Order: sequence, then structure tokens, then C-alpha cells
Amino acid sequence: MPLDLHVFRTLSDNAGALLHDPASGACAAIDVPDAGETLAAAAAKGWTISDIFITHAHHDHTQGVAEVKRATGAKVFGPADAQGSAPVDTVVAEGDDVALGSERFETWHTPGHSDGHLSFVGRGAKLALVGDVVFVMGCGRVQPGQMERMWTSLSRLMALPGDTRLLGGHDYTLSNARFAHSVEPRNAALTARLAEAEKAKAEGRFWALTTVAEERATNPFFRAGEPALAAVIGLAGAPADAVFAALREAKNRF
Ligand SMILES: [Zn+2]
Repeated sequence: MPLDLHVFRTLSDNAGALLHDPASGACAAIDVPDAGETLAAAAAKGWTISDIFITHAHHDHTQGVAEVKRATGAKVFGPADAQGSAPVDTVVAEGDDVALGSERFETWHTPGHSDGHLSFVGRGAKLALVGDVVFVMGCGRVQPGQMERMWTSLSRLMALPGDTRLLGGHDYTLSNARFAHSVEPRNAALTARLAEAEKAKAEGRFWALTTVAEERATNPFFRAGEPALAAVIGLAGAPADAVFAALREAKNRF
């Protein structure tokens, strides 16, 4: 039986997410930006949180973890550098995996946005929980001097099968779409997605879930290896990692 995924807006633009295994009843919260909103979402679904997977140590992803753990007794899995901000029971790192019912999620070290950042990659579930590495049509901010690490992290996620769903940690979708469209105004898939992002915003619809294939078609950071992108940014012939870094700097100024 496939896992159920419930994604909801929490704080202002953070993604709250609950992953539920109907066979075993196990339920994982993916980060806890706000304990009350996460507990309420689980109660509304009739699910009991048994596990918490932390993608990275930033406060807006960890500040509700202790309270949800107290309320539910959930087991907490996360990176070593989240131990200062959340009660991590089991530190996980590259090469480990975590289980939810019968589904396994590989833990990948995907630094660049934060040093210990993890992505949880479920090949059976065709779902990767990527925190602040990938957003719909965008990517997370990069720590100073860490463009190479971020590019490596993105490149690994980009290489997953196209039908793999990616869940990012924020809905910055409309802002990302506008930047992407400014870079590639003649990309038809992107034009359609910008219209969809405007509609989602107007309707108050939260949007943080995408697929690898859709990002390959529309996300400028995924597309840094396309010759057309290099030319637009004034780096014709440059390697993809240099194009990525220039695009990320341009987004900061957008
Ligand atoms: Zn973050």
C-alpha cells in the first residue's frame, strides 16, 4: 500500500508534512516548524506521529520538534548538527537509512544550504524529502563559499528518476517562477508553470511538491548544464557548476 503524504502551510511559507503508512499506522512528521500546527494536522487526519525526520538544523525546521516529541513519544532522526536545536534520538548521515513501515528512505548528505543538511530518499515511494535544497523552480540559499557543495547536492537529486516526487521546505514558488521566467522567457513549460504559480497564489494554494522531471524542464538551477542557460547568463561555453553559481547570485539580486 502506498504511503499517504499530507503537505500543509505552516508558519508563513514553510511546508509542514506528514507521511503515513496505512499498513502499520506509522506516521512521520518531516521537520516541525510549528508543533501546534503539526499536531493539529495529524489529529485532523486521525494519524499518530511515531517518527520525526529532520532535514536540517535551521530553527524554522526544528523549533517544534521537542514539543511534538513530548506529546507523542515520537522517535527523532536527524543530522548531528541539529542536536543543539532539537532532541535527536538517532543521528543519521550519508549511507544510513530510516524506515517508515515497510518503506526505506536513504539518508543523503546534501550540504550547501546548511552543513549537515540531509535529504531522505525513498526509492520505493518515489519520494525525496529535500528540505531547503530544492524548491519548486528554485533552490535554497547557499552558504558563503559553498556553491560547489550545493551544486554537488543538486546534481545528485537531479539524477533521480524523473517520476520521483520532491518535497521542498518552503513555498517560494511564485517568486522562483518569476526569476526562472526572466532567465528563459521562451521556455513554454515554464510559461505554463508561471501561470499555474500565479493561480495558486491567488487561490491561497500551498505549493511545495514537484517532480524531478518537472524541475528538469523548468528549474534554472537544474538546467545550468543547458547551453542556452549559459548564454543567457553571459557564460557561453562555461561548465555547469559555474553557470549554477552565476544563476544563484543573480537570483539573490532579483
Ligand atoms: Zn534552511
